[in-house]
Amino acid sequence: MNPDLIVVGSGFFGLTIAERVADELGLKVLIIDRRPHIGGNAYSVAEPETGIEVHQYGAHLFHTSNAPVWEYVNRFTTFTPYVHRVYTNYQGEVFPLPINLGTINQFFRSAYAPGEARALIADQASEFDVHEAANLEQKGIALIGRPLFEAFIRDYTAKQWQTPADELPAEVISRLPVRYTYDNRYFNDTFEGLPADGYTAWLERMADHPNIEVRLSTDFFDESQPINKKAVVGRIPVVYTGPVDRYFDYTGGTLSWRTLDFEQEVLPIGDFQGTPVMNYADASVPYTRIHEFRHFHPERDYPSDKTVIMREFSRFANRDDEPYYPVNTSSDRESLLHYRELQAGEPNVFFGGRLGTYQYLDMHMAIGSALSMYSNKLKPLLSPEV
Ligand code: FAD
Ligand code: UDP
Repeated sequence: MNPDLIVVGSGFFGLTIAERVADELGLKVLIIDRRPHIGGNAYSVAEPETGIEVHQYGAHLFHTSNAPVWEYVNRFTTFTPYVHRVYTNYQGEVFPLPINLGTINQFFRSAYAPGEARALIADQASEFDVHEAANLEQKGIALIGRPLFEAFIRDYTAKQWQTPADELPAEVISRLPVRYTYDNRYFNDTFEGLPADGYTAWLERMADHPNIEVRLSTDFFDESQPINKKAVVGRIPVVYTGPVDRYFDYTGGTLSWRTLDFEQEVLPIGDFQGTPVMNYADASVPYTRIHEFRHFHPERDYPSDKTVIMREFSRFANRDDEPYYPVNTSSDRESLLHYRELQAGEPNVFFGGRLGTYQYLDMHMAIGSALSMYSNKLKPLLSPEV
């Protein structure tokens, strides 16, 4: 193939770009990925002993309020009516999340009406002003009061970030809603569901086009294979969705990430925890949560005598670990500015996706930002007459 565009990375960002350029512009796209499979972190695979679909890089729940993105993704898959709910185990007792009237009433062994619960939490939260909170601890207490913060947030957050809550930025917790109703849906979005025949089938359908070729186990920085940085940059336009610091040989510093370790187990029982995700709030439990994958697809005919669970552990990433969540310290932000300046000097290289922009992006955000890059930059460049 003589490609009109090279896409580095076959995650949702890269696949969306490739699909649009191949289908709408009729141009040839070569996607390379250094992993042996397509799909980036959304990749999933059937666990061989049970057939249960396991999300290899952590549980992925699709949700969006962006109607054009919802319309776009529905071209490649149908969605089940799955609605995400999460529970947390605190000192051996299970509570519903996100913190809602059910959590509050169970925690305080009470039957508060919404207004009474609001007044109680306002009183317990009065130590700090939410607008002046200097760190996650102050913000958390200002939002939900000290008792709930110490039970459900403080130690979980310390485990997840390996940093005490009073040293973390306040923003980390701003997406944790508190509800004074019994609604315990985890997401507030308009559209939600899981791909009916799995993530990998969806991802493969995006790449299934005569104008798209995918080469796996191919690293953009490996000069022993033909589609490498040195050979193609300046000759063929490139959309790069790998780590931005790696692209520039870390000359502006290594950006810091958190990674996750997963411990997967097949158990000889039909149901381990009765729900897809159980968080563990206590510092004494080393993992943050346990996923039980059968519960993501209650509509499927999975074996009734076996189940697959995955314990999730969080830690700072080394250069060789999978980067999962940007840490975003002030020195990271300085490095990122430096890399943005360098990007401007790269001829026809477009940086996108979560690794290319050093941003936490949900799937719908990665797809939405790829659709924008396609319309605003690539379409005018590759096919100015369309
Ligand atoms: P990626 O999927 O990371 O794809 C980048 C690809 O580039 C990878 O396949 C990588 O191998 C490849 N690559 C990197 N370097 C090179 C190189 N040098 N040469 C060739 N290829 C290279 N989103 C949700 O909406 N809901 C969720 O519930 C959710 N849960 C998540 C849970 C976890 C633990 C994590 C980490 C993420 C979660 N996400 C979730 C986010 C979701 O994974 C991302 O939105 C999505 O992966 C973004 O796609 P991307 O294409 O930007 O990046
Ligand atoms: N969080 C918490 N306790 C919980 C769940 C979440 O303290 O039981 C905090 C924690 O700081 C976490 C943030 O809320 O980093 C966001 O949680 P979410 O589950 O949305 O993050 P995910 O890890 O799934 O991206």
